[in-house]
Amino acid sequence: MPQTQGLAHPNAMAEIHFHNTLTGRKEPFVPLTPGEARIYTCGPTVYDFAHIGNFRTFVFQDVLRRFLRMKGFRVVQVMNLTDVDDRIIANAAAAGIGIREYTEKYIQAFLDDSRALGLERPEQIVRATDHIEDMVALIERISQKTLTYQSDGSTYFRISKFPAYGKLSKIDMSGIQAGARVDVDRYEKADARDFALWKAPKPGEHFWETRIGPGRPGWHIECSAMAMKYLGETLDIHTGGVDLMFPHHENEIAQSEAATGKPFVRYWLHAEHLLVEGAKMSKSLGNFYTLRDLFKQGHKPSTIRFLLASVPYRRQLNFTMDGLTQAASSVERLRNFVARLRAEKFPPGENESIAAGARQAAEDFEKGLEDDLNTAQALAAVFDLVRDANTAMDRGEFRQGNGAAILAALEKFDAIFAVVNDDDAEKLRAVGYVTTQVSLSDAEVEALVAERQAARKRRDFEAADRIRQQLAERGIILEDTRDGGVRWKRK
Ligand SMILES: [Zn+2]
Repeated sequence: MPQTQGLAHPNAMAEIHFHNTLTGRKEPFVPLTPGEARIYTCGPTVYDFAHIGNFRTFVFQDVLRRFLRMKGFRVVQVMNLTDVDDRIIANAAAAGIGIREYTEKYIQAFLDDSRALGLERPEQIVRATDHIEDMVALIERISQKTLTYQSDGSTYFRISKFPAYGKLSKIDMSGIQAGARVDVDRYEKADARDFALWKAPKPGEHFWETRIGPGRPGWHIECSAMAMKYLGETLDIHTGGVDLMFPHHENEIAQSEAATGKPFVRYWLHAEHLLVEGAKMSKSLGNFYTLRDLFKQGHKPSTIRFLLASVPYRRQLNFTMDGLTQAASSVERLRNFVARLRAEKFPPGENESIAAGARQAAEDFEKGLEDDLNTAQALAAVFDLVRDANTAMDRGEFRQGNGAAILAALEKFDAIFAVVNDDDAEKLRAVGYVTTQVSLSDAEVEALVAERQAARKRRDFEAADRIRQQLAERGIILEDTRDGGVRWKRK
């Protein structure tokens, strides 16, 4: 295989570094086409609701694409929906419905959950069942290179004929018996040998009639076929959870490079596992959460997004109830700060040291992300700025002229983290949770505050008190300021 890294052109965007699983190193990100980032993302298998471990990876991918866009790249991201696999076929058959009908509900749920978490929609979301012909054509192409064999109506990839096998996961393939194989994707283990590209039909189960015989695609071929169809034979970035590295991504490389003779992916980015209260998430341990479970418990979308985004993607994330509480208070601190900045009147002029601090924070925020998306470092820069500015306001040292630079830094922050704008209630309503526990939106609070100010002006103190009470019941505290204005914050 030709080495792609040596072909890199130095360019203006080269200060971004990503840890590339393929090389095991942090490398400058240089896309194949300057200014463009073509990304493939393994999407969900839509036989159930996605859980927060899945969403950890999807939030990381969202941070990645938002950051690349911030840096001026044109992002083209393709995500697949695995709407055919053994579980889907079996569950649909058990329910007595077609697989499209069976998966529809989970596809809709995934798209709704993604919106609730503020995930930008990838440029293309593609379904496996719409690409059977592309998979068949790719299998034919691999077969022409004599890397496949047939057995019991299934087509297998012969790993012994692809010497680079294992280069991503660094798995030791020595001592492996040629020709040994496993039959079912979901049972593939580290000692699995050849893998199925195409599986013979099972009695009573769904299959497609194709040029390579009746059957259904293996899981791995789906991603190779769709990635190359929409992004070309060499992609810039391929992302996924670390659990997909072997065998799924290793098999994607084998299939794609066997067919094309070209490097399949230049940068492989893998998100680490998510633990819940220090343990592996599992239904039997009772620590298994979908987003909906957390919404039902009263947690806000912004809280969950903040928590998932705050730990750099290559670190294990320990998801805890304490962590959720802290994330909620971090988001509130930011929102209250922005509200204070907008509502309070400051003396004219500019405080030079605050201005310098704002510039530095914006720079440090970006530097953190340039360093393999170090979100923890990026966040620290912003929270330091907020703390210093709050202190300056308390001491009367903050000036009107400082507002713009600070808002600019926070805007930059929110282009990635997307939690400052308070639209939690709206998002929850959109996924069907209408709950009174959810606080008013900023706009709703502002409207009530303005109404109360108007009542005070006309000396209708009864009405003003009623509104204050109404806000208090929804967790909003008002503070009248010396200049006759009012400032509000969340309890
Ligand atoms: Zn995949």
